[in-house]
Amino acid sequence: MRSHLLNGLTAEHYRSSVTEGVERVAAKLATTDRPFTGVTVDALTPRVDAIDLDRPLGDTAAVLDELEDVYLKDAVYFHHPRYLAHLNCPVVIPAVLGEAVLSAVNSSLDTWDQSAGGTLIERKLIDWTTARIGLGPAADGVFTSGGTQSNLQALLLAREEAKPDRAGWEEGASPAKLRIFASEVSHFSVKKSAKLLGLGQESVVALPVDHDKRLQTVALARELERCRQDGLVPMAVVATAGTTDFGSIDPLPEIAELCAQYGVWMHVDAAYGCGLLASLKYRDRLTGIERADSVTVDYHKSFFQPVSSSALLVRDAATLRHATYHAEYLNPRRMVQERIPNQVDKSLQTTRRFDALKLWMTLRVMGADGIGALFDEVCDLAAEGWKLLAADPRFDVVVEPTLSTLVFRHIPAAVTDPAEIDRANLYARKALFASGDAVVAGTKVGGRHYLKFTLLNPETTTADIAAVLDLIAGHAEQYLGESLDRAS
Ligand SMILES: *Cc1c(COP(=O)(O)O)cnc(C)c1O
Repeated sequence: MRSHLLNGLTAEHYRSSVTEGVERVAAKLATTDRPFTGVTVDALTPRVDAIDLDRPLGDTAAVLDELEDVYLKDAVYFHHPRYLAHLNCPVVIPAVLGEAVLSAVNSSLDTWDQSAGGTLIERKLIDWTTARIGLGPAADGVFTSGGTQSNLQALLLAREEAKPDRAGWEEGASPAKLRIFASEVSHFSVKKSAKLLGLGQESVVALPVDHDKRLQTVALARELERCRQDGLVPMAVVATAGTTDFGSIDPLPEIAELCAQYGVWMHVDAAYGCGLLASLKYRDRLTGIERADSVTVDYHKSFFQPVSSSALLVRDAATLRHATYHAEYLNPRRMVQERIPNQVDKSLQTTRRFDALKLWMTLRVMGADGIGALFDEVCDLAAEGWKLLAADPRFDVVVEPTLSTLVFRHIPAAVTDPAEIDRANLYARKALFASGDAVVAGTKVGGRHYLKFTLLNPETTTADIAAVLDLIAGHAEQYLGESLDRAS
């Protein structure tokens, strides 16, 4: 069994095992003709259930054969140009190489004595990102597991900073008085964070959006004023730079102005829109982000990085102290004086992957412009897709994209019952998934069911979009035809 431990004696076994795995995946990538096989839960479950974990196969090739059957064969492939569903990007090769290196060396980024150079690489990437945002000389941050964790940490810092001086909140006052303002289409992790932070049910105030799904600053100004008059404490405003559904970017300069006026923490959730930080054409869409107190970025959404790769950035490094705890065995206080960089002092996690290496490899091989150009391509593709949809009487499209999502629904010519239109669109999404020809997402707008394309693959063409729209229309029409038959 010791032959399976990765060390100097097993280097050859390591090389051949990993190569075998890489070969399988490469073969898969070269031959998948659809993003999904359409396998059902009922078909796949018995295959997984039948495997006896207490009877190992011993042999790598046999295990890879088995894996083919329970996973690789029927996985959902994000690299396929007709995977158009969620915020999953195809990944770039330098990042996958980084992934292979980081899991083999297996550094843990919590302390210097578990990572050394890894710590410095992560710090340099944090500085690179804060410079791109324009957060100023005192900025800092830390890599996280994802936007959900980044938002949680940002709101933790905001909660701590909302204490006495900053907003006139008496020490010991109830956290029930704290309020977070975010648009009604902000990410649900804001509400989840509020719950985890012990804030009341009323703590997140959902603000209306305008026609373009951007937070209405008039409503924000009104609510901030009301908050103050009611003796409540405005703890944070969460501006979303790239809403999950629409890719809309809240008006950052106006929000920054209001945050300054009311002394409120400004958090920008740029989990999706962060790709614009590298854009060659559309960086100005993020103007105002430089005034944030904290920013969430998900490199695994718009920097073409594998899951997980995300960061929280802050304007003032000192605010990260709210996540600092010292343990004698790990990061004793004296190490701060000794200037030993322990990233755990800034993180909600302890043992932590060296995810930063993936971005490092990417920037060193492709450069930021390489990433930005890919993201620009998908933004341009979305603009083309919007034109297709807007000109097509079979569809209703919600907003002109700022990033790379399209939200639309099929409107059958002969049907007026909104519930029936909902059912036709729900059916079309399911039927498409079951066919495996394409994968699309869905959401609700104004209480009605819509479909969604999240375009993150530069290999997707307008012809792909047109073809998938035809498939959707076909499935919806088929449903309506059958539904007429049922009625008659
Ligand atoms: C995806 C997303 C998140 C959550 O990020 P995870 O990496 O999935 O945890 C937060 N905010 C927005 C706007 C997102 O799109």
